[in-house]
Amino acid sequence: MATSIPVTSPLLPPLEEFIPYLQSIWETRRLTNGGPFHQQLEEELAAYLGVKHLSLFANGTLALVTALQALRVTGEVITTPYSFVATAHSLLWNGLKPVFVDVDPHTCNLDPDRIEEAITPATTAILPVHCYGLPCNMDRIASIADTYGLKVIYDAAHAFAVRQGGASVLQQGDLSILSFHATKVFNTFEGGAIICPDARIKQRIDYLKNFGFANETTVVAPGINGKMNEVEAAFGLLQLQHIDHALAVRATLYERYRQAFSNTPGIGMMDIAQDVQWNHAYCPVFINADYPISRDALYELLQGQGILARRYFYPLISNFPMYRGLDSANPARLPNASDIAQRILCLPIYPGLDEDTQDRIISLVKRAR
Ligand SMILES: *Cc1c(COP(=O)(O)O)cnc(C)c1O
Repeated sequence: MATSIPVTSPLLPPLEEFIPYLQSIWETRRLTNGGPFHQQLEEELAAYLGVKHLSLFANGTLALVTALQALRVTGEVITTPYSFVATAHSLLWNGLKPVFVDVDPHTCNLDPDRIEEAITPATTAILPVHCYGLPCNMDRIASIADTYGLKVIYDAAHAFAVRQGGASVLQQGDLSILSFHATKVFNTFEGGAIICPDARIKQRIDYLKNFGFANETTVVAPGINGKMNEVEAAFGLLQLQHIDHALAVRATLYERYRQAFSNTPGIGMMDIAQDVQWNHAYCPVFINADYPISRDALYELLQGQGILARRYFYPLISNFPMYRGLDSANPARLPNASDIAQRILCLPIYPGLDEDTQDRIISLVKRAR
């Protein structure tokens, strides 16, 4: 029996390249609390991503929770049901009320036309997701936020290194957050970051992730422990040396899928705007009505062959027990998200997926009956 093929596999540079970093940590005995690797990774990542400032975190979820704190968001927050559950959970952890708004059926991102009608006097922010790393309609969201005086926090967990019109999408909104979880394009085992537009807000966020300490004796806010440690930061530095190659491999694999499915009846793929420099974080395909079998039947068929495709995102966040009682969680109000959740399947894509295996996946998908 062949080994299973996961939907993603972490970017792991050669172990011997990591040893010198560990030796340095053992020598300096700096394990955490903004040590040298942490500082260096913040600088190198900001330069690589083309953003001014960023603050590293222990994971993306703590970055989300803290970003909402930093902007003092209250009341209701407009967000998408079509995401990983941490997006909405970060609102509940802040005592905020999620208001789910439907997505655009082509982009899978929040539909700007639906945002305005969901705004109430209690609305203070919008929490959109760049789903699969493909950019939201950021101009429309900015204009709605300006008109109604709302904050915008982008859950950019999938959008590492994504650019549009040559500029990083991470600079948009008031804050953006990244995840460096092992399953993401760039990983630090566990990790994340908040992208900050200026040094002042970065300062405040740096306090918030360290219990609110501004110095040894001053606590300025009820902060949390959200710090990234030195081993994780060192791993990020090493990985940064391999990321361009990893992104190039992802692009090649995605293009091979795209060409293979270009004339396969019933298989749809995302439209990628010309001006988007994508990271190919996922390979989402739509299993449409004219495909010979159902999405779930294909999912099972692949699983039977050891191909662990994933239904990202199914079920919708709004269908989980802690959300489904909300008015905005009613599936009748989320027709596009509900429909996509039934048709979507993410195929394996990661550096290390060899072309023979990919060809086997392609032929299974093309020949399914
Ligand atoms: C992975 C992910 C998160 C959470 O990040 P962690 O680092 O795992 O805490 C949040 N939002 C989205 C959309 C994600 O995919």
